[in-house]
Amino acid sequence: PRTGLHTLLASAARAYGARDAIVDGEQRLTFSELYENALRFAQGLRERGIGPGDVVALVQPNSLWYPVGYHGTLLAGATVSAVNPTQPTDSLAAALDEVGARALITHPAVLPALRPLLEERPSLLAVLVPPTATAPGPDDEGADPRTVPLADLLDAAPAPATPRSPDDLAHLAFTGGTTGRSKAVRVRDRHLWANVLQGLCARSAVLPEYDAEGMVTLRRVPEAVTPWTSAPGEDVVVNVVPLFHAMGLVSHNIGLLGGTTVVGHGRFDPREFLAAMVRHGATGLTGSPAMHHALLAATDVGSYDLRAVRLVNSGAAPLDSPTIARMAAAYPNAAVAEGYGLTEATMALTFVTPDRDHPAPPGCVGVPLFDTELQIRDLADPAKPLPVGETGLVFARGPQVNDGYLDRPELTAEQWVDGWLATGDIGRLDEDGRLFLSGRAKDMLIYKGYNVYPTQLEEVLAAHPAVAQVAVIGAPHPEAGEIPAAYVVARPGAEVGADELLEFVAARVAPYQRVREVHFLPGLPVSAAGKILKTELRALYARRSG
Ligand code: ATP
Repeated sequence: PRTGLHTLLASAARAYGARDAIVDGEQRLTFSELYENALRFAQGLRERGIGPGDVVALVQPNSLWYPVGYHGTLLAGATVSAVNPTQPTDSLAAALDEVGARALITHPAVLPALRPLLEERPSLLAVLVPPTATAPGPDDEGADPRTVPLADLLDAAPAPATPRSPDDLAHLAFTGGTTGRSKAVRVRDRHLWANVLQGLCARSAVLPEYDAEGMVTLRRVPEAVTPWTSAPGEDVVVNVVPLFHAMGLVSHNIGLLGGTTVVGHGRFDPREFLAAMVRHGATGLTGSPAMHHALLAATDVGSYDLRAVRLVNSGAAPLDSPTIARMAAAYPNAAVAEGYGLTEATMALTFVTPDRDHPAPPGCVGVPLFDTELQIRDLADPAKPLPVGETGLVFARGPQVNDGYLDRPELTAEQWVDGWLATGDIGRLDEDGRLFLSGRAKDMLIYKGYNVYPTQLEEVLAAHPAVAQVAVIGAPHPEAGEIPAAYVVARPGAEVGADELLEFVAARVAPYQRVREVHFLPGLPVSAAGKILKTELRALYARRSG
């Protein structure tokens, strides 16, 4: 194949060579250095017998070296699996066994959790980042000769990339685990490449062109450029989204091909994050709604000079309109672009065209990305497509939609139906092809036979000035079947009681949709990807009432 994922880093190095690709504290790698290090890393893997057909697990927090290991693995012809490093040993072991990892790239801080696993799996190679991390010596307790510092791999001389084909497995991506145990999705080169190009074209108003060697050049489409489009080779983003999650990893690849400088940010502290944005002249940021809420809740958000920010991306969970309005105030020159997708679709299916003067209406997650089709089907009969305007299950197909879970044929058959992916989300399309989401099918509740969508109630509650964050769940009820119960985090210093919020909702929704209970919490449980964990709230509810 002339072009594809294998040319991503080479194209970026050719286009933006001396520009910083990644900045992490005092360390930085230009696009050329990133490419060269990834080629060395690939050769280091080859010299250790790792190549096409092998899986290399990335089990580490975000760092400068993450994309080196990631692209190095791809350049060696192997498959990446990005694993959440904060899991306990037994789930780490389950994840690594599920994908059949031959090597893992990890961090000294994660090593203690991995130690028992390395002992049980004699063929597993562990590479330690950062490169200066020293492997335990032969006399140290728990020493393991298969643990090598990254510097050893980077000692290899760069060699040409191993050819890849569009059907090769690029990534075994774990789903977010919001609704149950996380599953590994088979992301092929063509899926990832398609989603990177779809995302980049939508965000930056560009058309990709490629030459005989498959190197990509981006041609701007001047008539599509607005004050909020990101500009190839000019953007700077500060990032805390974990690279082990689809949103983090695919966005990072879009950024690389688009010449964006990514400033890594360690632990998420809202004020430090805002300060880093000012210091680096950030033009954009990407995050989950939970992260955006945390930034807006920083009491002095108004005192940071955020005028350089043009584009604020949000995804992974519903973003309510009151929050979009608060974002517009905090970032005086920016527009909010929301994307909707899921790991099974590599990352994104839809995108809101950023327009500060016309923010998306409530629930709208934009239009399908290039070459992506959406279909709404009957909730009771998922074989039956519904007309425009009616609410039902969202099905999707397109070049970024994957073809199944790894080694789970039954689950795959449930989710991929006659060529379409069942997203598990509920929504409707309007006349203009825009998708409006009502929430996950698993979160919908039935009150006395009526369907109630928690996201719509969350949208209403979020507009109350005392509410900082809210999640609505369906709670079991002896007569009604289920009732909507809200968990609310109040704004600092706000005085508000449950009755006031119950009345606030009752005045704005149909009687069957009324929230019946409000419980206050100091914070809501969120996943590593920044999604509110309703499974935990349901368990909390059951414990309280049990
Ligand atoms: P699991 O499948 O393991 O339970 P998960 O569904 O959280 O985890 P992801 O692939 O990370 O796995 O999340 C995809 C889901 O996130 C979508 O199906 C949708 O419910 C939700 N989502 C993503 N983007 C948006 C958005 N912009 N608005 C509303 N919901 C979103």
